[in-house]
Amino acid sequence: MASKRVVMVVEDDASVRSYISTILMTNGYSVVTAEDGRSALSLISSYNPDLILLDLGLPDMDGMEVLRQVRQWSATPILVISARTQEREKVEALDAGAGDYIVKPFGTEELLARIRVTLRYTERMIQGAMVSDVYAVGGLRVDFGKRVVTVDDKDIHLTQIEFKILALLCKDAGRVLTYEYICRNVWGPYSSRDNQILRVNVANIRHKIEKNPAQPQYILTEVGVGYRLVEELKDPPEQEETT
Ligand code: CA
Repeated sequence: MASKRVVMVVEDDASVRSYISTILMTNGYSVVTAEDGRSALSLISSYNPDLILLDLGLPDMDGMEVLRQVRQWSATPILVISARTQEREKVEALDAGAGDYIVKPFGTEELLARIRVTLRYTERMIQGAMVSDVYAVGGLRVDFGKRVVTVDDKDIHLTQIEFKILALLCKDAGRVLTYEYICRNVWGPYSSRDNQILRVNVANIRHKIEKNPAQPQYILTEVGVGYRLVEELKDPPEQEETT
């Protein structure tokens, strides 16, 4: 049997800390907790966790500072726990090397999914390889090698830029990608970083792949931060066979 993954929970709120710890332990993770930044930093070096869940609002030091300090010597994936309205903080955390963030209040499934995606992303980075040449979720199928996109087995014609954006999102499905990250990867490091052109392209992709582009199922907007391609469809469309 594989050894348990160690997750460190850095959170000053005792009830949130125990809520998260309970979920993780019942789902096969081993948990180490810290209630402030300083103890987190010392525990991280002794426990070498597989993943760190980091609350940004800590009593003794800014969670961002903990993130930056850890990043100076460790590649351990960090999942930031954030409040709903702090868009700037989320972007800052992602830029500083956080793998993703989760917004309070969150449920069990969301927490576990974010952890799974963040761990998988990190493993892929370490292996330096893609797991698969095809990404499929719901009726959407993207073949990276052949550059073919289908929705419910119908061919979708995307422009080259649209395909690049969609492929980028699919390769990191489940994980939020910032506007800046997407622009840099699609238009190059010297692109104007103009989010407007990205928004227009995403709108076009949605018109082609979404049933209802105003209520997208596949490409979700993380307001003020970027886009996230879903890992699984939340509300399956009414296709269930009724017998
Ligand atoms: Ca807090």
